[in-house]
Amino acid sequence: MRKDSLRELYVDELRDLYSAETQMVKALPKLAKASSNAALRQGFEEHLRQTSEQVSRLEQIFEMIGEKANGRKCLGMEGLVKEGAETIKEDYEGALMDAALIGTAQRVEHYEIAGYGTVRAFAELLGENEHVSLIEQTLEEEKQTDQKLTQLAKQINPEAGQGEEEIEVGQPSKQTRTKRAA
Ligand code: FE
Ligand code: FE
Repeated sequence: MRKDSLRELYVDELRDLYSAETQMVKALPKLAKASSNAALRQGFEEHLRQTSEQVSRLEQIFEMIGEKANGRKCLGMEGLVKEGAETIKEDYEGALMDAALIGTAQRVEHYEIAGYGTVRAFAELLGENEHVSLIEQTLEEEKQTDQKLTQLAKQINPEAGQGEEEIEVGQPSKQTRTKRAA
């Protein structure tokens, strides 16, 4: 049967997010385990707790509309999780691995932010105000997680870059020049 209502699309998108979140419940402990930086590891652990809450918010929405939460696989998240697994397999040393994990995690957060932004807009159009407030709580957590990752990157990326002796191509950076002068 042809799907012809925004509500059907909305429910499909919610199922996609449900699949995405449940995949992250499994993936986040692996990201935490692969982290060297304690704050990064704690960040992943905290986001795991939030992610379990996010799963239950989606379950609440499905309960309200009397629909099943499963039945769809989020292929986008499956790809991101696979890329993350590839990263973990790489032999990056401490801070380099942490910098790579932040890159993985920020891709995930941006993907989720896009997905939740879409369903929020649909929920608003459909007049599902209770859904909107649940979706917004999750959206806020995803945005805050992304910002925390940006903050962690500011600390971790320079540590990851400490092995760089000099820049071969182009002008040396100010920092490199200062180091050489010293
Ligand atoms: Fe999430
Ligand atoms: Fe997230």
